[in-house]
Amino acid sequence: MSPSSHDRWQAEIDRRLQQGVELEFTLAQFAGVVGAQDSDTALQAFLDNLVASTAARRIDSYRCPVRGCDRVLPPGGQPTSCPYCHTDYLQEGCEVIAEHFYRLVGETSRDIRWVIVIHGMNSRAKWQEEFSWEIANRLSYSAPVLIYKYGWATIDVFTRWLHRRLARQMGERMRIAIRQAEKSDLPTAPDIIAHSFGTLLLSRVLADAEFADLKFGRIITAASIVRPDFDWDRLVAEGRVEAVLNHVGGQDGAVSYAQYAIPGAGPGGVAGYDAKTVLNVRTDTYPHSGFFIPENLRVLISREGLWHGFLTRPLAHFRPPGSFVPEARWRPAPLPARIPTRLLAYTVFCLLAPLSWFRRRLDP
Ligand SMILES: [Zn+2]
Repeated sequence: MSPSSHDRWQAEIDRRLQQGVELEFTLAQFAGVVGAQDSDTALQAFLDNLVASTAARRIDSYRCPVRGCDRVLPPGGQPTSCPYCHTDYLQEGCEVIAEHFYRLVGETSRDIRWVIVIHGMNSRAKWQEEFSWEIANRLSYSAPVLIYKYGWATIDVFTRWLHRRLARQMGERMRIAIRQAEKSDLPTAPDIIAHSFGTLLLSRVLADAEFADLKFGRIITAASIVRPDFDWDRLVAEGRVEAVLNHVGGQDGAVSYAQYAIPGAGPGGVAGYDAKTVLNVRTDTYPHSGFFIPENLRVLISREGLWHGFLTRPLAHFRPPGSFVPEARWRPAPLPARIPTRLLAYTVFCLLAPLSWFRRRLDP
């Protein structure tokens, strides 16, 4: 056995584990893929080694010998007849084919269930149409996408009581969507993609006991303004959330200032989240809204893309480039530093609120 062929076999095993695909195979099938002979004793030894190290299990099975049927028979002893083509092997004088499979110990890949997208402050951004189009085209199956619209939020972001109202509305809308999914036999825990101010609203829904019945699949927060110490670990432990990817833009100039102007906000989209269960990933070149520039979005949701990978792959082996663990636990900026800017923001709110109300009437 040359070291190079051993490396090639191992690389194929690693690929399958990372992508959660083709975990079950026969010796002949695997040999065909890696360009070896199934009589290759080194390959047999390699696979038997996987079994010995518990990286794989060996499953003995029988296959129907009848031409045109060729099916793997249900497990449990040597069968005397085929439940599919109803051939009685004794009567027909034919013999079942003994076969064994290898099954890699790992999770299989997962389907994107359906997605709720919660945008930042501008609800009319062009990326929404682009996103729906891309996701429908890139995925080999259709996953319904609900783009949650909370209307125009501009100066509203400065006040905590308006957040509460926006978060309540969003929680109620999510509950309706989840009930509709249940009726349509879709899974009841949607995947979520949230951006900027949408991440803060999402965190409020998750922290609100009134919405404790809502469960979510995998969550992506992009350019997050959620506090880095938000307790994602507890939500994961309680089964409210399956997993979290925090996607950080290396050129994000907005997130750092959020805590000075927006009550309850923090720089999760710069510093990363402290929670151990979260996967923090930084893309150095992205600015605050870089995630939704069509060129980037296309890459993120393509088959090899970060978002597609996070939503579909087994996460035990998922460590994309740019993954990081926050160095020190985050602390909020001292209150004296935040009070003047909050007051300023609130003053701006009071001055502009009548205008905002007026525009809302004209342009709901
Ligand atoms: Zn059969």
